[in-house]
Amino acid sequence: MKKYIIKKTKTKGKGLYANKNFKKDELVLKVDLSRLKSFTLKQMQKDPKLQSDHCDYIGNRRFVISYHLYSYMNHSCNPNVYIKHSSMKKMEFYAMRNIKKGEELTYDYGANALEGFDKIGWESFKCTCGSKKCRKTIYSNFFKLSKKLQKKYFKYLPQSLKRKYRGRIE
Ligand SMILES: [Zn+2]
Repeated sequence: MKKYIIKKTKTKGKGLYANKNFKKDELVLKVDLSRLKSFTLKQMQKDPKLQSDHCDYIGNRRFVISYHLYSYMNHSCNPNVYIKHSSMKKMEFYAMRNIKKGEELTYDYGANALEGFDKIGWESFKCTCGSKKCRKTIYSNFFKLSKKLQKKYFKYLPQSLKRKYRGRIE
C-alpha cells in the first residue's frame, strides 16, 4: 500500500496526503537530491523552463528541479511534518505529531530557508494554510520567523548551516 497520495487541495493546487497513520517522530519520507542535475542562479533566471514551483536550493549557490513526492507538500504555519537535514541535499521528513490517514502532509517553508531562495522569485507569498497560527505572509527567510520558531527549527538544520548561523540564534 502506498504511504501517500497526491491529490488536489481546495485552495493550494496539488498536495501530498497521508495514506496511512504516522506516529509522532516516525519517518515519513526520505529525500536525496544529490544525483539531480544542479543549476546556478544565473542559469535558472535565463531559462524559463527552469522557473518552476519545484525548484529547491541545495547549498553552494546551486539549485535543482525536483518532482519528488516531497515537492508536492504544501506549506503550513502549523505543520505536521518537520525536516531533518544531514546536508542540504539529503533530508528526512518526520511526523511532528501523530498524523491520521487522509490528512494533508505539510511543513513550514521558512524552516530551512536560510540562504538561497531570497533571490529567485518567491521572496514572500500570501499564506492560505488556514491554521489558527497562520502568519499570513510567508517569507523565504528563516530570520523573519519568530524567535520561538527559529529556536524550534534550528536543531533540524544541517551542521554546516548550524555552524554558520549559530551566533544569530543564541
Ligand atoms: Zn499560514
